[in-house]
Amino acid sequence: MQDLLLRNVALPDGRAGVDVLVREGRIAAVGPALPAPQGIPALDGGGWLLSPPFVDAHFHMDSTLSHGQPRVNESGTLLEGISLWGELKPLLTQEALVERALRYCDWAVARGLLAIRSHVDVCDPRLLAVEALLHVKRQVAPYLDLQLVAFPQDGVLRCPGALENLKRALDLGVDVVGGIPHFERTMADGAESVRLLCELAAERGLRVDMHCDESDDPLSRHVETLAQQTHRLGLHGRVTGSHLTSMHSMDNYYVSKLLPLMAEAQLHAVANPLINIMLQGRHDTYPKRRGMTRVPELLAAGVNVGFGHDCVMDPWYPLGSADMLEVAAMGLHVAQLGSVAGQRACFDAVTVNNARVLGLEGYGLEPGCRGDFVLLQARSPQEAIRLRAPRLLVVRGGRVLARAPVQAVALELPGRPARVDFTLAPPARDEPGVAPPGGPEAGP
Ligand SMILES: [Zn+2]
Repeated sequence: MQDLLLRNVALPDGRAGVDVLVREGRIAAVGPALPAPQGIPALDGGGWLLSPPFVDAHFHMDSTLSHGQPRVNESGTLLEGISLWGELKPLLTQEALVERALRYCDWAVARGLLAIRSHVDVCDPRLLAVEALLHVKRQVAPYLDLQLVAFPQDGVLRCPGALENLKRALDLGVDVVGGIPHFERTMADGAESVRLLCELAAERGLRVDMHCDESDDPLSRHVETLAQQTHRLGLHGRVTGSHLTSMHSMDNYYVSKLLPLMAEAQLHAVANPLINIMLQGRHDTYPKRRGMTRVPELLAAGVNVGFGHDCVMDPWYPLGSADMLEVAAMGLHVAQLGSVAGQRACFDAVTVNNARVLGLEGYGLEPGCRGDFVLLQARSPQEAIRLRAPRLLVVRGGRVLARAPVQAVALELPGRPARVDFTLAPPARDEPGVAPPGGPEAGP
């Protein structure tokens, strides 16, 4: 844990020209023109936006970067993805799992993404992926919070031995209880799986995060059971419904009754915009449903809504690069959240709202919070999303983990400015950290 003084940054709440002082890994002061304590390294923030780190509330680190192994998903559907993952599982080795996961964590750090909740499949009785990701979790702990969910991909009731494997995974140190009620064979089995998994979490004092109603079937209503069991077992604020795509297709009257139930249970909702828009509506001809859950309505009902990346280059999704601003941008488009407040809500959905989902301690930019943040080449959260803003500086506990120069393009147009950088309020040309016409140079 280190000391650091970061001068002249803008904050997501609109304050500008602010300094941030980190002492022994924690934020000690935030304000204009802070006095510089002796011997503390100082960096110039160039007036750019400082945000708490990005957080991903829903990811699959056991399958990431496996795209094309053993073959690609030709139909592009959820179900072919699941069967393709089934083909890949017997071929997995611990070394390959660890290597892919660590590589992804490198990408995450470079993108200012310093906390990830990853599901890990527990249906393989060898628990190969569980052991690999527990190893990775320990290895990256100094710079990245990796929270693991015991995820019975093939259904905790449908797959023989899955419940025992799931319990073994929890015994080994996996943090959160997962589930997939819509993949059980019947609605009744789905509801039963929600009940028994919530009881298991309550017994062990753990959080719950289920893949819930990842379907276009308007009658897939397991989220109702999830909220009810949360109530019954007193798990308020500790349970997350991931995907919830069936809500897109549900009857409006039914949803008007469901939303208050979810809010009362303090259920967290996590949409996965890139994957939802790619996988949902596949049985439709035209019009084709978007399939993402009802984000604006959930927010209006007081439900905490986060966005997850879900997949990067795996059997379900061939793209992605650990960029939570790309996730926010897709969520913004699919939910039509183009207003100033809507755009801000999408920024929150990949930062503070996801931190609430994970229950992260000391998250934020107030004094007392952890000295973790990311400096973005943008002036506001809205501009950060619009530009998928470059990450200039990534800091954990006052220690710089990654840095990149301010990006600018040299223009060679007679009578026009010598450079273009796409921000609306570009810094003055002589400001430190700004690239000269000849090419980019090191930033702060
Ligand atoms: Zn998922």
